[in-house]
Amino acid sequence: MRPVAPRALALLVSVLESSGGRVVEDALDPGERDAFQALLDCGALIGSEDVPVILCPCCGEQDVDPRRIGGILQGLCPECGYVPITNASLKARAADPTWLLGRLRTVFGAASRQASEELVPGALWKVCDHKQGRRTRRILLARRLADHAVHRSFREALAEKVERDNAVIIGTTPRSAAMLSDLSLPYVHLAEIVHFRSGALELDAERWAWCLKPAHLRNHEASPVFFENFRMAVIDGEDYTFSASQAAVLAYLHAAQGRKCHKGSIMEDIDSPQKNPIELFRHNPGQLAGFKAVADWDDFGHYWLRR
Ligand SMILES: [Zn+2]
Repeated sequence: MRPVAPRALALLVSVLESSGGRVVEDALDPGERDAFQALLDCGALIGSEDVPVILCPCCGEQDVDPRRIGGILQGLCPECGYVPITNASLKARAADPTWLLGRLRTVFGAASRQASEELVPGALWKVCDHKQGRRTRRILLARRLADHAVHRSFREALAEKVERDNAVIIGTTPRSAAMLSDLSLPYVHLAEIVHFRSGALELDAERWAWCLKPAHLRNHEASPVFFENFRMAVIDGEDYTFSASQAAVLAYLHAAQGRKCHKGSIMEDIDSPQKNPIELFRHNPGQLAGFKAVADWDDFGHYWLRR
């Protein structure tokens, strides 16, 4: 069984990144129901107004406007005609930023009297000040930075309300989409630095320290994708964990710095009886998905890392 905690965190991130910040249980993949339940149980998702429009339950393509006709809840789909709609399909839950801010304050050991402050409604918060050694950092939380209107308000608030020298932004937007490459202050993805455990968040102190190091001081062996000696990869907020032999393949490819490596050399180097790296991944769908996200290969037995 796939562990629920990383998927719960990924689901929370995706709900926070969606424009309404809401999720309808009925619209979820059945495999994600346990992650949804975990978020509901700890209070990360709360009740919300019903969604005004839903996807047609028959074709799943057209938006329909639910209404009660003759005592029966239904909607008129341009493709399918009148379709019955269940109450459950309208019941939305919203991600609760207050929950996340509270957990982050705990993670960073903020004094209980220290409250968070909303800098852009629903999109940017000052979480707390975090003292580490002699240095105090202002922790910010941002969401939906890929949205242009949100991004503009974010930039304005940053200029007016934030001392940049000591701030760190924790965000739910993938770094590649967040349009922040010109900023000098560090941006870390939420899923990179915390783990979701028993309804709470825990800081990955090593990764946090690594994310905050100025780029030129980061160990060259370190990578923004791989952690824990290649036993783990984080891509756009998704976590993947690998076995020791799988990690050895990734380390070998990483050392090649993007060059193509032949399967024979790889397997010989890591002392594996298998003929192909892919053989080590294909029996576990999660690990295979992780391998496909970071590596690529051709029909001639060459493997390389995507980035
Ligand atoms: Zn339809």
